[in-house]
Amino acid sequence: MRTLGVNSRLKPFGATIFAEMTALAVKHNAFNLGQGAPDFDGPEFLKEAAIKAIRDGRGQYARMTGLPELTKAIAERFHKTSGMSYDPERDIVVTCGATEAIVDCMISLIEPGDEVLMFEPFYDSYPAAVAMAGGVSKVVTLEAPAFRIDEAAIRAAITPKTRVMLVNSPHNPSGRILDDAERAIVARIANEFDLIVISDEVYEELWYETRHRTLVLEPGMRERTIVLGSLGKSFSFTGWKVGWAIAPAPLAAAVRSAHQFASFCAATPLQVAAAAALTAPETYFDEFRAEYRARRDRMVFGLRECGFTCDLPQGSYFALADHSSFGFADDFAFCRHLVEHGGVAAIPPGAFYANRSKAKSLVRFAFCKKDATIDGALERLAKYRAKFESGELAAT
Ligand code: PMP
Ligand code: GLN
Repeated sequence: MRTLGVNSRLKPFGATIFAEMTALAVKHNAFNLGQGAPDFDGPEFLKEAAIKAIRDGRGQYARMTGLPELTKAIAERFHKTSGMSYDPERDIVVTCGATEAIVDCMISLIEPGDEVLMFEPFYDSYPAAVAMAGGVSKVVTLEAPAFRIDEAAIRAAITPKTRVMLVNSPHNPSGRILDDAERAIVARIANEFDLIVISDEVYEELWYETRHRTLVLEPGMRERTIVLGSLGKSFSFTGWKVGWAIAPAPLAAAVRSAHQFASFCAATPLQVAAAAALTAPETYFDEFRAEYRARRDRMVFGLRECGFTCDLPQGSYFALADHSSFGFADDFAFCRHLVEHGGVAAIPPGAFYANRSKAKSLVRFAFCKKDATIDGALERLAKYRAKFESGELAAT
């Protein structure tokens, strides 16, 4: 009999850390600051739009590329935020979350053995998606604590087989936003080596003091870049899984060629609601940012009082902190101890590294949570800290 189970391409990836930490949070009745999912609902008008779409009989498959009203709304929103024009019929593909778009890109763009350059820490689906497509991940480290792109490191990782560069800003998990110099490096390298760039901009609306600027605006980038977006992030409905890719026609056609067989279409009523969401007045986005900025400050200032070192993230809904003062050997040991003995779930950022040991002193807290959840978690963290100081708890 054949060996049953996962094939050799996916075996190395094991189980995603998000499922593991969320299960531990439930088991220990912990405040869950692990998985990046809000513990509150997105806006009421969106729910009403989805309910109305269901009542109106919008229950069959959507157009494969995305509902016309949604691809139009995506193009219009992107034009509003970036000034760049894309054809809603030709240049946009609606997917089941950005996660599907990442897989579609890899499956449709790379040949077996092609190399995909990415930066660690990375969203954990990137290398798995490359592996599904039979590609090879080449990982360049964004060195902590600055997490800046380094041109020499990229050049050293490029080979004749490099075909795609995968970039994420605002960045999960560091919360950094690429600055002018870094975007210029990405563009210079992409143009020089004729790379396709996948620009994961799912946190595009979650920037604080520094405005996010899409990579497409850099010289020579429009024609080689696929921008990924997600309704889940900007409208606090991560479970709706509506994402999209925006790209010039030949690249959009490639993504579509995989999407049509991967999922065919995202849920129709949710696409109807997504179109309503993206045409929301600018005040929605301003308030959304202001609320998140307040959550960020609450989280980061609180963490500092509990013995963590933590910079204010420029974007995203993650605070990446340093737990060294607690004395643990690594991030996995710390997170497992914290969820069990401190009642707070967080993510060990080693899960976002090819070389896990690079993240030993780091821990990621998601602050897309109600004030009561953040306050409750901080209260527990303060008690946890006090037990270390009194000697009641010690690092294992
Ligand atoms: N990219 C990044 C950087 C993410 O953090 C996430 C997930 N949260 C995704 C992509 C996937 O987004 P979605 O939930 O739309 O699939
Ligand atoms: N992207 C989310 C995070 O980083 C989680 C997505 C997931 O659970 N797959 O927390």
